[in-house]
Amino acid sequence: MDSTSGGGASDQNVGEGPSATGGGSGEGSAAAPPSRYESQKRRDWNTFLQYLKNHKPPLTLARCSGAHVIEFLKYLDQFGKTKVHLSGCAYFGHQNPPAPCACPLKQAWGSLDALIGRLRAAYEENGGRPESNPFGARAVRIYLREVREGQAKARGIPYEKKKRKRPTTTTPAIASAAMSQVLDGAASASASGGAASSSDAGPAATVAPTTATV
Ligand SMILES: [Zn+2]
Repeated sequence: MDSTSGGGASDQNVGEGPSATGGGSGEGSAAAPPSRYESQKRRDWNTFLQYLKNHKPPLTLARCSGAHVIEFLKYLDQFGKTKVHLSGCAYFGHQNPPAPCACPLKQAWGSLDALIGRLRAAYEENGGRPESNPFGARAVRIYLREVREGQAKARGIPYEKKKRKRPTTTTPAIASAAMSQVLDGAASASASGGAASSSDAGPAATVAPTTATV
């Protein structure tokens, strides 16, 4: 089903060791393997760099704007696994359509939101300045909000439900991480298409695990 993998980004797993092991003090302890969040973040970052590399016209990180980030998110939609009904579809607004339809599959808002959180952190960890972080651009926030509202309508998810209060507003990256894990679990439990198994290959893998339940 996910035949899009051979896209040339095959070397993503070669990242050597954690980048931020202080290296000084703890001699006896073997370096702990990076957390799931950390390795996902690294994979996402590599995917994005690969995307820039293949971009036409060529694009460097330094020249990357919020608009480019949005373009990247739209590009990822082709690997999505979440049915988003078009307004003309009979199942528009239905949470559990009784039959299949021809509407496109896209990335679920929750996947994109978590992805942006990871990339935003990765950008700064790789030397980018916070004030020029394209993943934190206002346009990206607005785009994500539109995706959320549009998908909520199209998929019959009450908007209020999504507007959960967060305990703190200061650590969006951590919130996203927690959320992506929650979504992962939910997806493997409920995704009927068996799609959740296509990991580790190509750009799709970076955001694949989260599916219908957002
Ligand atoms: Zn539909």
